[in-house]
Amino acid sequence: MMSGDYYSSIETMPYRELEEIQLRKLKAIVRYAYENSPFYRRRWRDAGVTPDDVNSIDDFQRKIPTYTKDDLRREMSGDNVDYLMGAAQPISLYSLTSGTTGVNTLLALNYGFMDEIVEQLFMRQFWMAKLRPGMSAFQVLAGWHFLGLVTNMVFSRMGVRAVAPWGTSIHDYVGNFVDAMIDRRPEYFVGMPWMVDAMIEEGRRRGLEPREIFKGVRYLHLAGEPMTPGMVEKMRDETGVEDVFNAGGTADGIWGSSDCEYHRGIHVWMDVNFLEVVDPRTGEPLDYGERGRWISTLLIPGGPTVVRYVGDDLVKVEKEMCECGRTHYSVQMYDRLDNSFLKGGRYLTPYDVSLVIEEVCGHRLFTVLEPESSGDRLRLLIAKIGDGDPCTGASDEIDDAFRRRLGVGADVTWVSLRELPFSHRKLIRVYREMEGGDAA
Ligand SMILES: [Zn+2]
Repeated sequence: MMSGDYYSSIETMPYRELEEIQLRKLKAIVRYAYENSPFYRRRWRDAGVTPDDVNSIDDFQRKIPTYTKDDLRREMSGDNVDYLMGAAQPISLYSLTSGTTGVNTLLALNYGFMDEIVEQLFMRQFWMAKLRPGMSAFQVLAGWHFLGLVTNMVFSRMGVRAVAPWGTSIHDYVGNFVDAMIDRRPEYFVGMPWMVDAMIEEGRRRGLEPREIFKGVRYLHLAGEPMTPGMVEKMRDETGVEDVFNAGGTADGIWGSSDCEYHRGIHVWMDVNFLEVVDPRTGEPLDYGERGRWISTLLIPGGPTVVRYVGDDLVKVEKEMCECGRTHYSVQMYDRLDNSFLKGGRYLTPYDVSLVIEEVCGHRLFTVLEPESSGDRLRLLIAKIGDGDPCTGASDEIDDAFRRRLGVGADVTWVSLRELPFSHRKLIRVYREMEGGDAA
């Protein structure tokens, strides 16, 4: 059902009804996992739980054990993924995750599951992010990745004309993206934030303004990195698009979506995903609205079965109706856990640092240096914009803003963009000497 703003009437369903759906589906997925997946059956038997023990959401959370990527990795051998996770046969495709933590996860996907998840999750997501039938869309995500794959399925189901340039996802081929944009003039752009930045940079080398490259594009739909309001505003100003939607989630835990036009976090569908949040240190459950590590349960059976998988990102999940009228989760993604650091008893991430810098200077690129050994202060390298950057005189003001908003002071060193640490052309946002920084 498509009625104007919403793809499905379920998007505005009251919480009580959504929670009833969740409980019904949780019970079904627990039974399915127990009966079809050796991985879950073994773990749950060890914990002394059977599907009959789960009759409420509270039962589910107290009795069903969680697991991490390491638990899964120990049992996966590459060719047992569908068997292990209980995917229904026949498998139509094995898809990879991006492997930012060093190991790719393989997902076994069958035809029915793909159709169902595209219809129930991704069609709603793209509709919410203003993709409409008849539009022409540009897609720069790799086809081997789950997200690239489902994006192409959305395009064909929605009736969108798709352009995919040669060299998808590879930095060296950004020139092709620029050529194809100018040649095709799409109305909708699906990619990652770094691609837009790289295309702008490539355009400048050719003497092209960003607005010339993105002429005709109405919306950017960008995944792979949480964008701060300052980043979004800068990108909108530079490219001249009407709006920028930020998509997020994970292929490992099979949850995700994008934000809506009010940009209050990613609206994750409660009838598709059941999300919990736990304290990163203790594993204790946290209330919705608190910042912690996510736990995902996918409520659609038949594909990779995900039941209480603990992820590696720091998030905040809220259950409050958004201004758009949708009642589902609003998720703020911050960063991967190993890109976060403890200051004053709180987990902070580059996202938090960026918000404070934006308040004083607008969006800037920066690196946090050795957060574990800088005491109760933060050491920051911030890139100047040109030689006469007025913000270089605002270091004290930045320090004040950090104390006020995060309770820690900040020592700023202003550098040129070239002096920031990069790894494979990607900015290292948290630099640690021991590890050589993050290689995400
Ligand atoms: Zn909304």
